[in-house]
Amino acid sequence: MNIIFLGPPGAGKGTQAQRVCEELNIPQISTGDILRRAIKEETPVGLKAKAFVESGALVPDEILVEIIKDRLAQDDCSKGYILDGFPRTVPQAEALEKIAKIDVVVELAVDDEALIRRLSGRRVCLKCGATYHVSTLGDRTTCEKCGETLIQRKDDNPETVKNRLDVYHSQTAPLIAFYEGKGLLKTFDGMQDIDAVYASIMGTLRALA
Ligand code: ADP
Ligand code: AMP
Repeated sequence: MNIIFLGPPGAGKGTQAQRVCEELNIPQISTGDILRRAIKEETPVGLKAKAFVESGALVPDEILVEIIKDRLAQDDCSKGYILDGFPRTVPQAEALEKIAKIDVVVELAVDDEALIRRLSGRRVCLKCGATYHVSTLGDRTTCEKCGETLIQRKDDNPETVKNRLDVYHSQTAPLIAFYEGKGLLKTFDGMQDIDAVYASIMGTLRALA
């Protein structure tokens, strides 16, 4: 199954995508993770993307479309995948239609106040993409899955978070109507706890399979 996870920053896309991908044995394709790695490794794409990512702006569509084209052409995508963080604009969604057949769009709905709380306490593993929140980390400073030291993302500071939420509402939220119009949208209450959201999503995906 080819699945898109759609929702504002902090909605829980990465958290849920990682679990669903493990369960379905398909790859999680997080464009944010791909860009952060490219920035860390100072690749040509990373150098172009750095200022956009750090300010909370979207990286230009043509760069993202190239990244996704290359990634979807890899062998591990043949049995399905989850796109986490792509598409984020209508032109990206239109470009995707030309190279992939999407089966379902999982939208996670969360209010802005909760998003700010979640993002301000988020800790991430840059190596494997795992995501945590300070409220449940206790004394732990390393990734439970791979042992890497956890970090706070530079773009999770309050000012950049505000920009990212504005960008979501103006540039990405139009995709809700775009995919609803195609009959692909399934909306979930992302305000529930992580296990409850996961159970709802899996229930829907199993019914579709
Ligand atoms: P996204 O990928 O949509 O930006 P993340 O999956 O990184 O969001 O989650 C953002 C933060 O919120 C993380 O700290 C994560 O642990 C936490 N989180 C995710 N889902 C929930 C939930 N259902 N309830 C409370 N906190 C959550
Ligand atoms: P994320 O990890 O999904 O929160 O993404 C982090 C940042 O990467 C975003 O704020 C953007 O700067 C950039 N980014 C990720 N995915 C995309 C995309 N599909 N289009 C444009 N920019 C993106």
